[in-house]
Amino acid sequence: MFSSMEGKSVLVTGGSKGIGKGIASVFAKSGCKVLIVARHEDKAKACADELIKAGGMAAAFGADVTDLKSMEKAADFAVRTHGGLDILCANAGIFPQVKIEEMSPEIWDETVDTNLKGAFLSVKACLPALKKSGEGRVILTSSITGPVTGFPGWTHYGATKAGQLGFMRTACIELAKYGITVNAVLPGNVATEGLADLGPDYEKTMAASIPLKRLGTVEDIGYAALYLASKEAGFVTGQTIIVDGGQIAPESLEALAQA
Ligand code: NAP
Repeated sequence: MFSSMEGKSVLVTGGSKGIGKGIASVFAKSGCKVLIVARHEDKAKACADELIKAGGMAAAFGADVTDLKSMEKAADFAVRTHGGLDILCANAGIFPQVKIEEMSPEIWDETVDTNLKGAFLSVKACLPALKKSGEGRVILTSSITGPVTGFPGWTHYGATKAGQLGFMRTACIELAKYGITVNAVLPGNVATEGLADLGPDYEKTMAASIPLKRLGTVEDIGYAALYLASKEAGFVTGQTIIVDGGQIAPESLEALAQA
């Protein structure tokens, strides 16, 4: 039996849609006070309203993870609104699909700034409040793309997702003295609004390559994050959980076909 998460204060970056919205919803249903952070405050607010309507405790704040001052204001808002901050889900990310030959340095920088530097700035901004928690938790949303697999058009993206794990492996050592754990969830292909932009056939083809024959749900990722945030995961730090329906397991298409 897991300890109650009732009353824990959690900040979810990129919580207004997709995986972040799923994480926010799972934490809200578990009794946490959730602050949804995204650049479009109206969308973050709409999401918080949905969670409140469903019986949860939620608020919204417009902030950009590429801007330290903006994230410090978000962390401060969480402390003022929810009486402290126990959990940071550093989830905000972008994934413009561009192959090396077409990629501009600007697209590379924007992706690195958002996904990698953004994770660092989110942690840095939330650190003073997480230290006060005594049982602080940082959960990064990485990906299988980069740390484990590759996909054409995502060199920059894969580099940021692998980079997040490099960041995590030293951050967990630095922050252990404050009782803060730092872990990462590595989603496979998850059905989100963002994925829909990649075209109608993409979802079908991807589902066929997954042993469990479906894409992940945003809640699948939320539950893995919830475990890492739990009291019971207090001795787990610097680790990764892959949530991919077995996608990275088959060594070839033949291995899938013979199952
Ligand atoms: P999504 O649906 O496109 O949502 C992205 C969220 O991040 C939005 O709330 C967006 O809101 C926010 N965001 C983007 N840039 C931001 C910034 N600079 N500052 C603050 N918020 C920002 O994306 P998703 O598919 O759920 O992906 C979420 C995370 O999961 C990403 O880190 C991604 O790499 C990872 N992931 C996704 C998949 C998948 O299959 N979808 C698989 C593996 C890993 P605003 O635009 O309003 O800022």
